[in-house]
Amino acid sequence: MSKQVFCFFYVLKNTAGEVIDQSDEGSPISFLEGAGQIIPGLERQIVGLKKGDKKTVNVAASEAYGERDDSLIAKVERSQLPTDSVKVGDVFRGGPDEDAPILTVTEVTATHVVVDANHPLAGEDLVFSIEMGDIRSATAEELTHGHAHGPGGHHHH
Ligand code: ZN
Repeated sequence: MSKQVFCFFYVLKNTAGEVIDQSDEGSPISFLEGAGQIIPGLERQIVGLKKGDKKTVNVAASEAYGERDDSLIAKVERSQLPTDSVKVGDVFRGGPDEDAPILTVTEVTATHVVVDANHPLAGEDLVFSIEMGDIRSATAEELTHGHAHGPGGHHHH
């Protein structure tokens, strides 16, 4: 069976109603169904919508960025860091890979820093306001690559 590419606009809020993120005006994001490009709890509720549909989608933390995991918090000696100027709230990628976890500095002492590899939205229940854009059949190339191409999708350089 052929798969679909879904484009949509979104505003993401936490349960307190604060805006966390949103798609850019006029530029929807897109995903290939079943490819794991967006969080599972959101995809499940988008597949089945039609162009122009507006919907508020609640996604529990467990189906979004997961629950917080204390084992992802690590104490690192400052001598192991590439820089001396580190402060609470600094964010850096934990490796050269595009998929390497994002580490957030949560504590700084004279000898150590504590870094947290939990996703910044781990443990958060999320509320998406969705407006559906175009829905089309995936191209053979997209199916081979396992992601959506074009505006809002994956760009190859
Ligand atoms: Zn591709």
